[in-house]
Amino acid sequence: MHHTHKLLLALIAAVLVLTAVLLWNRTSHAPEPGSAPMIDPGKPEPAKTDLTKLDETKVIDLTYAFDEKTIYWPTAKPFEWQKESWGQSVGGYWYTAARYAASEHGGTHLDSPIHFGQGKAAMDEIPLSHLISPAMVIDISAACAKDADYRLTLADVTAWETQHGSIPDGSLVLVHTGWGKFWPDKKKYLGTDVPGDTANLHFPGISREAAEFLARQRKLDGIGIDTASMDYGPSKDFIAHQVLNGANIYGLENVANLERLPAKGATVIALPMKIKGGTGGPARIIALLP
Ligand SMILES: [Zn+2]
Repeated sequence: MHHTHKLLLALIAAVLVLTAVLLWNRTSHAPEPGSAPMIDPGKPEPAKTDLTKLDETKVIDLTYAFDEKTIYWPTAKPFEWQKESWGQSVGGYWYTAARYAASEHGGTHLDSPIHFGQGKAAMDEIPLSHLISPAMVIDISAACAKDADYRLTLADVTAWETQHGSIPDGSLVLVHTGWGKFWPDKKKYLGTDVPGDTANLHFPGISREAAEFLARQRKLDGIGIDTASMDYGPSKDFIAHQVLNGANIYGLENVANLERLPAKGATVIALPMKIKGGTGGPARIIALLP
């Protein structure tokens, strides 16, 4: 009898310990994907999306495919892709493999803060929580249609905030210029299709005032644009890059399909190739619509 009693007590103790461990794991030990409370106390709660049951109509690919037509900076080498094996192997099975080479900054890609920010984060150092962010989309396509050298102004940002509220901490701001409709026509998209020609670049970007406001008055994870650069075509000092990368904010360039996103409510996942020490690199970017 005494022996059974002890056994029962031990069993109850074991159940209690197991329950405590499980509860502790659920509450304090396993953060929601995308959140990093230790690093980002101000980060808003991530969207409650069940990633196992995604409605395909609510997933938007913001990425251009990489091929020989992919737009790179005029001074950069184009994307290279060579088939090494393609077809039936000597062993009788189907086998394909290819090699590729690319500049970091071309096609749909991410600019690491180290690109224009000395001592700032390289590709492999950007926290994953910063690559999964609520997207705030500022549409300046009407102004850009009238002026290819238009730059997002501070007034554009404040007008957006008047309508949609202050840009929350931990946001990804996406600047929609409408330039996606020209992809992959280099002459229309860049202003020039001559290799090496940087004197005739014309496309919209971000003004110094808007960049400074977003870098200093707001707490962004990143900023993206549907042109080849955060700085407009004629820029010689790349001031938007300097200001934003200098504030450890990454950039997304040549972002596709921005016209399909709402001004607010989408969650963007931008995963670049993890190049150790990289200043940038190709990124697969998707948006989850609300
Ligand atoms: Zn870049």
